[in-house]
Amino acid sequence: MRRFELYDTLSRETRMFVPITPPKVGLFVCGLTPYSDAHIGHAKGPVTFDVVARALRRWGYRVFSVQNVTNLDDRLIARGGESGTDPMALADRHMAVWYGDMARLGIRSVNYYPHATDYIPEILAQIQQLVDRGFAYEARGSVYYDIAKFPRYGALSGQKLDALRPGARVDPEPGKRSPGDFVLWKAATPGEPNWESPWGPGRPGWHIEDTAITVRLFGPRYDIHGGGADLKFPHHEAEIAQAEAATGESPLVNFWMHVGLLTLKGEKMSKSLGNVVGLSESIDTFSPQVVRFYYLNAHYRSPLDFVPGRSLEEAAEAYRALDSVAVRLRAARTAAGPDREGEELSPELESSAVSTVEELDELLSHDFNTRETIALLFRWTKTLTELLPKLDGLSTTALDTLLGPHDWAGEVLGLLGASESSAGDGTLSGVIRLALDARARARARSDFTEADRIRDELIAAGVRVEDDGSSTRWRLAGPSV
Ligand SMILES: [Zn+2]
Repeated sequence: MRRFELYDTLSRETRMFVPITPPKVGLFVCGLTPYSDAHIGHAKGPVTFDVVARALRRWGYRVFSVQNVTNLDDRLIARGGESGTDPMALADRHMAVWYGDMARLGIRSVNYYPHATDYIPEILAQIQQLVDRGFAYEARGSVYYDIAKFPRYGALSGQKLDALRPGARVDPEPGKRSPGDFVLWKAATPGEPNWESPWGPGRPGWHIEDTAITVRLFGPRYDIHGGGADLKFPHHEAEIAQAEAATGESPLVNFWMHVGLLTLKGEKMSKSLGNVVGLSESIDTFSPQVVRFYYLNAHYRSPLDFVPGRSLEEAAEAYRALDSVAVRLRAARTAAGPDREGEELSPELESSAVSTVEELDELLSHDFNTRETIALLFRWTKTLTELLPKLDGLSTTALDTLLGPHDWAGEVLGLLGASESSAGDGTLSGVIRLALDARARARARSDFTEADRIRDELIAAGVRVEDDGSSTRWRLAGPSV
C-alpha cells in the first residue's frame, strides 16, 4: 500500500492516511437528491471521489465506495405533487439520467448507491437508540435531536452553538426545545409517503439516512466521508452527533473530505436563481473528458467559478493539446503491433518516462493534487513533441514506455486513456445501472427472489451480469447461439 497524506476538515490538518482495517477503506460520499435534472456543479464531487477511489485501488487499498441517494425529501414531494407523480418514482426517473451521465463520465468506481427509503428499519433503530440514550426527544409525533446534549456539535464547521439560528434547512416547528435541534423523524402530513414508527406514522429527516446506512455498511467508524463544502453544516455536524451518540464510538470518520463548490458569478447554481447549466447538455456539447478535465484541472478543495461560454471552451482547448499527442502516440503503438523491432529510447528519455509515472503518483499522494498531475502531463507532452515525427521508427517497447504517463492518466484521472475516447452511449448504461441498482437494493434487504428475477431479465435482454466480490460488472453478451 502506498502511503499518502490527506487533508481532514475536522482537525484542519493534513495527515498520513492510515486505514482502520488495512487494506480496506470505507468511503462514503453524500450523493444526489434527484428532484430535478443535474447541473454542471453536481458532478464535481463524484468525479473527485472517482479519482480518489481509482488512486486508492492503484495503490493497493481495497475500497468500498458508497454514494447514497436521498430519494425522498421536501423538494421531491413538492415536485411530485406538481406533476401528480410519486416522489420516489420521480427520483428514480432522474437517477436513470444521472447513472447514464456517470457512465459517460467514466465513473465506475462506486460499489453501491443505497436509497434512503430502503433503510427505514435501520433509521428507526438508530432514532430509538438516540431516544433511549437521552439525545433525542419526541414532540407532536416528530423526533428531534437535542443538540445541547452533544457538546462537540459545531466542531466540524466551526459554528458556535449560541449562534445557531433557524435557517432554510432547520425546521421551525413548534415543540422543539431549541431552534438548532434538527428533525430525525417527521410526523406524517396527509398525502405524503409515510412509514409506521413508535412515534406514529412519518418519514425520516434528512441527516439520519447517512448514519443509518454507514453504521449498517461500515460499522460505527470508517475511513473517509466526502461531500460538498456546503454540507459541513448542518448536515455533517448532524451525522457526527447522531452516529457518535448512538454507537458511543468516536470519531465517526478519520478523514472528512470537502469538495469546493462550483458557483456561477459567485453564486450557487440553483433552479430558483435561474442560473443552471445542465450536466447532460455540457457532456453532449463538449465531451465527458472535457468535463472531467475541467474539474480535475483545479484542486478539489478550491471553489470553481463557472463562466458560461468560457470555462468549458478553455478546458476543451487545453485538453485537446494533451489528447492530440496521446492519440498520435496510441495510433503509433497500435501500428507497431506486439513486438516491432525498431529504435530504442535514449537512456535519459527512458528514465524520464519512468520517473514521470512515479512523480504523478507522488503528486497525487499529497491530498489528491490533480491540478499538479495535469501540469506534469503538459510538461511530459512537451517533451514528446519533438519525438512525434520519429514515432514510426520506434520499437514497441519504446512506445510502451513513452505511453506510461498517459496510461497512468487513463487509469487514475480517467483522461487520455486508451478507452476514454469511446465512452459510448450513456442512455443504455444508465438504464442498466438502474436495473442493477434495484437488484443491489433487493439484495440489501435480503429479497433474493426479486434480485434473481432482475438478473434473469437482464440476461434475457442480452446483458451479462458478473458479481465480483462487493461490486457488480456488466457487459453486453453477443447474440446467443
Ligand atoms: Zn449526506
